[in-house]
Amino acid sequence: AVESPTARDVDPAQILRNVRPKLLIDGDFVDAASGKTFPVLDPRTEDVVAQVAEADAADVDRAVGAARRAFDSGPWRKMSGRQRGKVMARMADLLEQRAEEFARIETLDNGKPLAESRAFDVTAVVSHFRYFAGWADKISGKTLQTNGNMFAYTLHEAIGVAGQIIPWNYPLLMLAWKVAPALACGCTVVLKVAEQTPMSALLFGELALEAGLPPGVLNILPGYGPTAGAALASHPGVDKVSFTGSTEVGREVMRAAAGGIKHVSLELGGKSAAIICPDVDLESVVDDTHMALFYNHGQNCCAGSRTYVHESLYDEFVERAVERAQRATVGDPFGDAQIGPLVDSAQFEKVLGYMKAGKAQGAVLRCGGGRAGPKGYYVEPTVFSDVRDEMSIAQEEIFGPVQSIMKWSSVEEVLDRANANPYGLAAGVWTKDLDMANRLSRGLRAGTVWVNCYNYFDDAVPFGGYKMSGFGRDLSEYALNNYMEVKAVVTPLEDPAW
Ligand code: NAD
Repeated sequence: AVESPTARDVDPAQILRNVRPKLLIDGDFVDAASGKTFPVLDPRTEDVVAQVAEADAADVDRAVGAARRAFDSGPWRKMSGRQRGKVMARMADLLEQRAEEFARIETLDNGKPLAESRAFDVTAVVSHFRYFAGWADKISGKTLQTNGNMFAYTLHEAIGVAGQIIPWNYPLLMLAWKVAPALACGCTVVLKVAEQTPMSALLFGELALEAGLPPGVLNILPGYGPTAGAALASHPGVDKVSFTGSTEVGREVMRAAAGGIKHVSLELGGKSAAIICPDVDLESVVDDTHMALFYNHGQNCCAGSRTYVHESLYDEFVERAVERAQRATVGDPFGDAQIGPLVDSAQFEKVLGYMKAGKAQGAVLRCGGGRAGPKGYYVEPTVFSDVRDEMSIAQEEIFGPVQSIMKWSSVEEVLDRANANPYGLAAGVWTKDLDMANRLSRGLRAGTVWVNCYNYFDDAVPFGGYKMSGFGRDLSEYALNNYMEVKAVVTPLEDPAW
């Protein structure tokens, strides 16, 4: 049953009652050294719902110091993997017990529908910590066959202190994707959460301590990018920088990390192609490609934001896509609406700007195209047809509910066009023709290709970019590589016969 949003249900103070709006450093919730705080807004109303401690370089220094001590001389790294896994599994259990509270915080902070916060975000985070709890005792090196009379093996060791920076579109899930594999490997962490959405991470930090995570292993810093984020990326006490966010900031982060030759992994933006072949069942593909773009209000790094439809289906597809978008309800995310507000005014202005640009550049606006409602960061689900590849709505990441539909006629052409974009995060292909599916999956320069589906995420399946969408993989066994060093140990064997 979908509840209707009432004042009682969405009293922000009630939803945030257990969140301590501070910095988590060395096991304690503390104020920023500067004493500064910053406001967190409810995207539905634009009202300030909390003042949160604002970390800057001095706090980053304290937090990195704590993480450094916890790594160098604390118990976490030396614990057996089995023990680490146990603590992580407890974190998942505690989170699951309070799933509803976390879902509400996430919806209040980010604006995503409560039903999705429950069914996807929080559920996926619980699952993710369980999955990596399972990896903690299965991280092993190899015994190697050498050419000489030597015994050689590898140790997979924790990389050290991980500095992690995450965005606002899946606040708790991005935390999980970064923190869980790092902890499984025995690293300690300083996490800079997005300034728009710091709340769920702070409550999570509290649960982590309750689960038995030693002080200093996970430090959480709300704060802004150019201050706290930049200080973390360049801090000499950090061994590894892991970043999810825009390509523009990713470049800055990589530059900041270069001074210390730190390990870096980057999950950046995308402009993913959704390719619809002539042999598909239109009904279900219209729905798939709608969700590929409009899920989470289009605020998805892997949003299928370039919809390439074969010419034989184009007109009918456009008609149905428009009809589908018009059915999507916009409204309070605590109610039954499918599309809530965008996260903040910057995002709101950016998306409205692309809607204007689409019209100005000659795309045909089929529905939507402006703000929805007088208050809050709501925008209309928007569909453009007759989009050409050179238009900015087809080139750049909009990160909003704006679908751009283009026409293709030959497979060589659509493959070239799909690849002729600087991003390479994901792609979707819809066809019943196996040869076509194979050809496109192999030909697309993207980190994920979904065939006859989209946005399928699984703990066991890696996710990350080609080209300007970054490098390194989150999720799955591959994510462990982000947080491990490989050490070779070599020693002579006494008896040449062995
Ligand atoms: P953003 O790059 O502006 O911010 C991301 C994070 O970086 C925030 O925590 C921010 O405070 C911090 N930051 C900003 N400037 C910084 C600096 N100079 N140094 C260090 N840190 C800094 O991105 P955003 O607008 O919050 O998020 C949207 C972007 O994230 C989109 O481009 C989207 O594609 C991308 N994203 C990618 C993935 C992925 O897995 N590839 C997932 C989610 C979002």
